[in-house]
Amino acid sequence: MSTTDLEAPDDTQHNAAANPLAQFVQGPRGAALDAYWMPFTANRQFKKNPRLFVKAQGMHYWTDEGRQVLDAVAGLWCVNAGHNRPKIVQAIQQQAAEMDYAPPFQMAHPKAFELADKVAKLTPAGLNKVFFTNSGSESVETALKMALAYHKVRGEGTRTRLIGRERGYHGVNFGGISVGGMVANRKQFGAMVSGVDHIVHTHDPKRNAFSMGQPEHGAELADDLERLVALHDASTIAAVIVEPVAGSTGVLVPPKGYLNRLREICDKHGILLIFDEVITGWGRTGNPFGAQTFGVTPDIIVMAKGLSNGAVPMGGVAVKQHIHDAFMNGPEHLIEFFHGYTYSSHPLACAAALGTLETYADEGLLTRAGELSAYFAQAVHGLRGEPNVIDIRNIGLVAGIELSPIAGSPAKRAFDIFLDCYEKGVLIRTTGDTLALSPPLIIERSHIDQIIDTVRGAIRRHAA
Ligand code: PLP
Repeated sequence: MSTTDLEAPDDTQHNAAANPLAQFVQGPRGAALDAYWMPFTANRQFKKNPRLFVKAQGMHYWTDEGRQVLDAVAGLWCVNAGHNRPKIVQAIQQQAAEMDYAPPFQMAHPKAFELADKVAKLTPAGLNKVFFTNSGSESVETALKMALAYHKVRGEGTRTRLIGRERGYHGVNFGGISVGGMVANRKQFGAMVSGVDHIVHTHDPKRNAFSMGQPEHGAELADDLERLVALHDASTIAAVIVEPVAGSTGVLVPPKGYLNRLREICDKHGILLIFDEVITGWGRTGNPFGAQTFGVTPDIIVMAKGLSNGAVPMGGVAVKQHIHDAFMNGPEHLIEFFHGYTYSSHPLACAAALGTLETYADEGLLTRAGELSAYFAQAVHGLRGEPNVIDIRNIGLVAGIELSPIAGSPAKRAFDIFLDCYEKGVLIRTTGDTLALSPPLIIERSHIDQIIDTVRGAIRRHAA
């Protein structure tokens, strides 16, 4: 990778005095921060002590107060090529100047075709049709609708049931929270989409605590799908959706053989298998997709985040040829699939994604997580034995460090450690009582050391 574009810019440019946002964050902070309703945030707590980023480069952010923060979570699991990479920046700038928007319905622009072709070459063999969206959540909805419509166009319209997994996260739209398995994300919002059921999750600390890479135990948990087939009958089930590695519920790595078994059961019963690779896609596990790392090919892959390096919102859904072709049987002048977004394959997003893919290719980033995974694993597992650390899970360049909760205050210890790390110059993420690390793939060993040292210090400071 080029070192020059990753170098830290002159820090004097980032002090609060030179910061154009200073008016919003100085003085009576509450007033200027009042109007914005922040997503997935304890708004009132945040606004009392805001954490604001104003600049990013390579592995780092800079705060409005001029502090440099090492990004150990790739923004929000998405900036896989690191921040503000020149090819991506240039591609966006050039596209903005050339053509702002092109309608994606009944019209198109060349970059959408170029991008789909490049994405299809990186997905596992056979998944060679790509539909673009603007986020992971939209990609999930698109995949679920494709699965339902696929069975319908083939004359198997009784297959209307969708199966998710406990502790799954599939974004925040209604289909996604319905197949998802995070109670907090569901319980405020009523009855959910009907006809959804869930297989059991794979988190099994009794048998698998401190596994390095894939846990040994738990392949048989996939058989829970047979229970749902017996309960509902296969003829009513359209698809099963799982994250190869469940990210947002604590980095749950699939037990050896688990995904293969799920694949076999789906094949046996004519059920489509959807992998939600919004986090595991784009190099996180050492290959372009988790499907390749785990050696299991689903029928549909849901992607987003690293597709455009987080620079412009974009998601996508890659499907097997036969799924696409099932829609192509009617009269040629009629719409085949009644679904799409005003901003599907937006020119700026396509440009950003093409710049991203070029950066990944130039710098070998889609396999870099594999090259660094042994070092990363050793470093992360070095936290074993620190106070309250009850499990550590990892694969490629993603890890979860689970802490015992404070009685009566779930998630508080992890959140306090997150705040401590931020104060010490490292951005991590928490999910429940698990600390999550998923750094940009341009990370160097020295950064890994800095992250682990900082996390270790914070864990010790919050040992009580
Ligand atoms: N699916 C998975 C596995 C995710 O991790 C996420 C987001 O983190 C989503 C879907 C939703 O993506 P978005 O926030 O872009 O809608």
